[in-house]
Amino acid sequence: MGQTPLDIDVAIIGAGPTALFAAFECGMLKLSCVLIDALGEIGGQCAALYPEKPIYDIPGHPSIEGGALIAALDAQIAPFDVPRLLGQRVEKLSGTRGAFTLETDKATS
Ligand SMILES: Cc1cc2nc3c(=O)[nH]c(=O)nc-3n(C[C@H](O)[C@H](O)[C@H](O)COP(=O)(O)OP(=O)(O)OC[C@H]3O[C@@H](n4cnc5c(N)ncnc54)[C@H](O)[C@@H]3O)c2cc1C
Repeated sequence: MGQTPLDIDVAIIGAGPTALFAAFECGMLKLSCVLIDALGEIGGQCAALYPEKPIYDIPGHPSIEGGALIAALDAQIAPFDVPRLLGQRVEKLSGTRGAFTLETDKATS
């Protein structure tokens, strides 16, 4: 198993809509972050299960398809250039605040 040391403030496990907005908030707070997802693409359920289904409960959007919502969230974090580790399932978290290790099924970060 290889190792990928990352010097970042926040590791966000998952890259669904919640995680993407968390990455935006990290950027606004000037915290560096990384998105890690077991799937090969960002977007969680919206992208993987219903990219063409309209969603009606997103503030400011009377109707938006799942895929379009993810594209908008992706565009919103673009200025922060957030790295993504996709296709990697996080399986273990160890260590303490300030120096922790995440183990994935592909590497340790
Ligand atoms: C068919 C369908 C229709 C829906 N319609 C609506 C709707 O109209 N309106 C609405 O508000 N909600 C709807 N939902 C619910 C909505 O999709 C979810 O509430 C939303 O996706 C949750 O976002 P999330 O980012 O918290 O999690 P998710 O979208 O579930 O994303 C979690 C991500 O984390 C990753 N992950 C989990 N564990 C690990 C790990 N250990 N390591 C690495 N990656 C990991 C997963 O691979 C996934 O990509 C619908 C859901 C479905 C299935």
